[in-house]
Amino acid sequence: MLNGDGLRVVLWVAGCNHCCKECHNPVTWDPDGGLLFNETAKQEIYEQLDKSYISGITFSGGDPLHPANRLDVRNFMMEIKEKYPHKTIWMYTGDSWENISDSPMMQFIDVVVDGEFHVEEKDPKLLWKGSKNQRVIDVKRTLAQENPKVPVLHCPDYA
Ligand code: SF4
Repeated sequence: MLNGDGLRVVLWVAGCNHCCKECHNPVTWDPDGGLLFNETAKQEIYEQLDKSYISGITFSGGDPLHPANRLDVRNFMMEIKEKYPHKTIWMYTGDSWENISDSPMMQFIDVVVDGEFHVEEKDPKLLWKGSKNQRVIDVKRTLAQENPKVPVLHCPDYA
């Protein structure tokens, strides 16, 4: 499984309440785990995003929408979109699109991969996701529809 289109910076945030069976990254569940995200870490990400061959940034985890992360993640996304309007932002979350589509954070995001990981539906050949129930959603096209609760997919399940 990869983390989005092109060559990307990936930020794994700490904190997740979904407790998916056979989660690929349980070390990230504790919201107090990991390394402190400080100004130095932010500048390191900007140094990478400055490179023309970097397509954008992916927020993964853990869950960027864990209550301990939401505000900081949203503010950081806002900064990134201001500084790099042509780079894409992807986000992986265990939450479902139907629950999060109203979030103001979505204005900064290009693609959301939603849903908990279901090991029974795991398939390593899937594009950008771990299990079949998850969806790779084109956020801007979805929000432009009359009914934004119905996701428009960014890509099919397989290349
Ligand atoms: S949402 Fe992701 S990080 Fe959280 S438990 Fe599920 S697979 Fe693991």
